[in-house]
Amino acid sequence: MSANSLPDTATAWHGLEIEKSLELLFSNADEGLTSQEVQQRLHEYGSNELQEGAIRNPWAILCEQFKNIMLLMLIAVAIISGVLDIVALQAGNNHGNIPFKDSIAILSIVLLNGILGYVQEFRAEKALAALIKLSPSNVRVIRNGKPMDVAGREIVPGDVMLVEAGVQIAADGRLLSETNLHVRESALTGEAEAVHKRADLQLPEETSLGDRINLVFRGTEVVQGRGKALVTHTGMQTELGKIATMLQSVKSEPTPLQQRMTQLGNVLVTISLMLVVCVVVGGIIHTGSGNQIRQLLEVSLSMAVAVVPEGLPAVITVTLALGTQRMVRRHALIRKLPAVETLGSVTTICSDKTGTLTQNKMVVQSLHINQKSFTVTGQGYQPRGEFRLHNDVIMLEEHPEISPVLIACVICNNAVLQQKEGEWTILGDPTEGALVTLAGKGGVEQDQWTSKLSRVLEFPFSSERKRMSVICRAEGVDTGLSPFRDVDPLLKGLVAPNGYVMFTKGSPELILALCSHIHTSESNDPLDNQQRTAILSENDRMASKGLRVLGFAYKSLTKILPEDSAEQQEQELVWLGLLGMLDAPRPEVKLAVKECREAGIRPIMITGDHQLTARTIATELGIAGKEQRVFTGKDLESMSNEELEENVDLVGIYARVSPEHKLRIVQALQRRGKFVAMTGDGVNDAPALKQADIGIAMGITGTDVSKEASDMVLLDDNFASIVAATREGRVVYTNIRRFVKYILGSNIGEVLTIAAAPILGLADVPLTPLQILWMNLVTDGLPALALAVEPPEPDIMRHPPFTPRESIFARGLGFYMVRIGIIFSITTIILMKWAYDHTYGTSIEGLSPERWKTMVFTALCIAQMGHAIAIRSNHRLTVEMNPFSNIFVLGAVVVTTILQLMLIYVQPLRSFFGTHILSTQELFICLGFSALVFVWIELEKLFFRFIGKKNF
Ligand code: ATP
Repeated sequence: MSANSLPDTATAWHGLEIEKSLELLFSNADEGLTSQEVQQRLHEYGSNELQEGAIRNPWAILCEQFKNIMLLMLIAVAIISGVLDIVALQAGNNHGNIPFKDSIAILSIVLLNGILGYVQEFRAEKALAALIKLSPSNVRVIRNGKPMDVAGREIVPGDVMLVEAGVQIAADGRLLSETNLHVRESALTGEAEAVHKRADLQLPEETSLGDRINLVFRGTEVVQGRGKALVTHTGMQTELGKIATMLQSVKSEPTPLQQRMTQLGNVLVTISLMLVVCVVVGGIIHTGSGNQIRQLLEVSLSMAVAVVPEGLPAVITVTLALGTQRMVRRHALIRKLPAVETLGSVTTICSDKTGTLTQNKMVVQSLHINQKSFTVTGQGYQPRGEFRLHNDVIMLEEHPEISPVLIACVICNNAVLQQKEGEWTILGDPTEGALVTLAGKGGVEQDQWTSKLSRVLEFPFSSERKRMSVICRAEGVDTGLSPFRDVDPLLKGLVAPNGYVMFTKGSPELILALCSHIHTSESNDPLDNQQRTAILSENDRMASKGLRVLGFAYKSLTKILPEDSAEQQEQELVWLGLLGMLDAPRPEVKLAVKECREAGIRPIMITGDHQLTARTIATELGIAGKEQRVFTGKDLESMSNEELEENVDLVGIYARVSPEHKLRIVQALQRRGKFVAMTGDGVNDAPALKQADIGIAMGITGTDVSKEASDMVLLDDNFASIVAATREGRVVYTNIRRFVKYILGSNIGEVLTIAAAPILGLADVPLTPLQILWMNLVTDGLPALALAVEPPEPDIMRHPPFTPRESIFARGLGFYMVRIGIIFSITTIILMKWAYDHTYGTSIEGLSPERWKTMVFTALCIAQMGHAIAIRSNHRLTVEMNPFSNIFVLGAVVVTTILQLMLIYVQPLRSFFGTHILSTQELFICLGFSALVFVWIELEKLFFRFIGKKNF
């Protein structure tokens, strides 16, 4: 058979019978394709990927950059400066300056800023899109006759794909079989209501897309049930591929900080316009004429350029991008950029238990059947071990009551046990994997038993139902006189005369409540209250040892009801027994919980498991003390939202909850002012994940739907990674605040210095727009970039979380900026006055009388170097820090200082930037004045240490 003759894309698959579809695609419903066929078809049809039409148009991104109000103001400054140059040229008093130098420089900066912003944003969008693709999303298929997980892009037409609740379908396909399959197709049809799919139908060709209920489509989400589908189209051939524009694009939303920066831009522009008006109007009033209008305008333009932190947006983007990269290294994949900085504000982490706090490697250790408690030995998923009663190894034949439980274990199960390179692993739910292993230890082989009992119907497990049932028919039953002649003897007492039997497993309290009888070695007896109490107290005993307990029951079925009749079928069951499995806590979590507590973050456990199991594990991990209050799902149901809100600060464990309870818990916490991170994996966790301030999906066990709804995906499902990401979030936010302080402090210094010049009656403006741009971009920009990678302070996780949505200027930042800005300007103004008085008009051989301006320029630049070194820590003195712990700051300071000296002493640069040579003595005077800022900041640290105040 050759893939060459596969049908064309126009085939109306919904109009075909299953057999015909399989025939056309040369596939087989039970065996799937072979690896060789897959390779061939991959080669022929390409990988199952959509082209990235969804990323925003590059031109749109570029145009957006120039909508920034600060850049618009700079453009205005460039135009005015150009007009002034034209006037000077016409009047002949150009003093030999290169005309339009400032205008060209400013426009170049505007252009550069725009292009830089464009490149950053475009790359950020692409990177984010790539990251999301990286998010592990495997598809289960049958190939070579075996189920296996493969990457979504490796799916080919003809593959047999298995889908279940929570999965986002990877390709278009024709359903081969299904159990109660409901699919939400809103991505395709806009219809929010889930569609009930049916494999057995053959539809008229003209059936519209939304009504093709025997097909499944790429990008749609399974909300309930399971199914098997034959892949008909992949990649751009899928319905979703055809309407690629409707694809949900990756949105790189502006982070709260970026929004605040835009607001800051508006404020700065307003301030500078006001300053311009003040200077011009004040100057005219002061001199009583408009003669000096040119000088006043020059002052105003310089001030306008000085006030805008040209380098800031680029530094912020780079910091956020670096933050996401560091987080990926800590196994936290950021899906929405704002999460990077808001993670630092998390006050409460609501975590699932299974897999996040525990290892999700289950081993059944105890059984309680027919009033006897057995233990089972063995480790991992290897199906080797012994059954013991009172420590003595037993023969299973002597305890026939055990076999039905083991049969239920393999039959009421969707996991597959497999041996890979000598190691036993499972494909599917670890809880179910442990059951297959247990059965194997008792000689009940999965393959054998699934062929003895063929599955007819399944009522799937869900976190709401907390149970699962399967209905099977025993092979070999006939309608003759001895119907069970060919049936396995172990089944004879279980199946009904028609051969049907249902096995159910799930939360023991729930299953027991559905039971009317109990299975003993001889017969099925009615369950009395005493037996119920005994079973429940055994359940509690196992749970309080931290075991995850499952109850088992069965029912001989005389009548099969339709597939949506779970409630009616799962009645009057016969109790089989209890089984307890160990899921050990993750060793690293204990430390992470401790770190959380020290950081003022409260961990909360929210689990579907039993309250005693939850409490034992929570106590072991330090999440809750023995006295900690536990709320169960039932408690929550009997409680109003107000009551929950009153108690929510006292409860550390929520047990036996359903996903909808999670939403109520998040909302209650948020109403109490908490900033909540919440984990989730199931399809119904999506609303809670969306509601949480940081929704966290599980990378390994999480459903596609939960990942879609999340802000962050945990690549290793590990609680410790949430804490690590929170720590990174704090580092990012602290560093952003650090360089905002650094940059804006110096801007204030520059503005005040320029404004002081006319007030002091100096003949000229000390700084040209070009020099200011140089300072803001190079001498401020480089060290600011270096500060963005400053390693965290040792106590970063020993102080309470940042108040969410706090102003960037909160916690003293605004005051710091103004204070340091004033210190900057005072030192520079004193220097300026001194330099002006000593140099202006005095002609020393080879030195320009204008060099007082260069002294001001140099002092401001070098002072920022001291500032960069001092600001590395909020409370540690520079001498207390390792200068090499951030080599970038050291490098930036050295490089910037050399560049600054080159501007003064290298001829072409000097004439371009309009600087003048300084004598050695003058240079040292500048250095001396610059050092004062550094000294001041260090003295401040000592002062705050003395009064016992810690700044964060
Ligand atoms: P967490 O929410 O912390 O991950 P969990 O995994 O225990 O906890 P669920 O998966 O919702 O939460 O399971 C809830 C309960 O349902 C379990 O305690 C168990 O009794 C039962 N259960 C779990 N898995 C299955 C399954 N595959 N089949 C039947 N019952 C199950």
